[in-house]
Amino acid sequence: MSKPKVAFFDFTCCEGCQLTVVDSLQTHPELLDAVEIVQFREAMSEKGEDYLIAFVEGSLARPADEERLRGIREKAGVLIALGSCAHIGGINTIRNRQPLQQVRQYVYGEKWDWFDAYESRPISAAVKVDYFIPGCPIDRDEFIHVVTALLQGREPKLPDYPMCVECKLKENVCMYDKGRTCLGPITRAGCGAICPTYGDGCEGCRGLITNPNLDAAEDVLKEHGLTVQDIMAKMDLFGSYQMMEMEGVSYG
Ligand code: SF4
Ligand code: SF4
Ligand code: SF4
Repeated sequence: MSKPKVAFFDFTCCEGCQLTVVDSLQTHPELLDAVEIVQFREAMSEKGEDYLIAFVEGSLARPADEERLRGIREKAGVLIALGSCAHIGGINTIRNRQPLQQVRQYVYGEKWDWFDAYESRPISAAVKVDYFIPGCPIDRDEFIHVVTALLQGREPKLPDYPMCVECKLKENVCMYDKGRTCLGPITRAGCGAICPTYGDGCEGCRGLITNPNLDAAEDVLKEHGLTVQDIMAKMDLFGSYQMMEMEGVSYG
């Protein structure tokens, strides 16, 4: 029986999620036996164009990215956003808070108009995304879980409850009680609340849960003498695109 063909693609990103994939596969060689990888720039030089499952890393940063992504979507039976950049736009979307031309001039100087660019966005802004694996970088166990489920013909299930649940199960002292801030009340669990566990507030790299209770989150802030404004910079770090969408900004 032929094995499902899998390909990995990257757009604007640091490629850290692909590195996590390589790392995960080292400890799960059975998955390498179960699929045929036909394209994976970070790990091999072959470039097969026939694939069933496409993993796409990185956010869209220029109009030409959309055409390339649509080509991938046409060939793939299943398309999966890999990591925060592809899933929610991620760290690249911080630049959307500044006027685009100013950003281009800052980066490219006098030659700014030689380089095409538009407001950075998640891949779902241009194509249908079947599944996503959140995080910056992705969680290696979650990657294995998603791939295993797909190969077994099951729907991959991701947690859709707030990080605080995982954090409390770990019996961490809340960052707010330490005078710090944290996006745990509205961020999708699944990383094991790694940042609060190691002494840092969650910065929301896994994106918002489906129905974030923003009122309850505001109450937590109020209890600690804070306002949404005090955590806006944190919310914008990975979530500028989502935040700006909620503010009614759209890029057409
Ligand atoms: S989500 Fe993070 S680790 Fe993954 S490619 Fe983007 S910046 Fe890199
Ligand atoms: S707000 Fe942050 S530190 Fe506090 S319980 Fe939630 S995840 Fe943990
Ligand atoms: S705790 Fe928050 S910022 Fe840290 S890895 Fe998890 S989702 Fe990302």
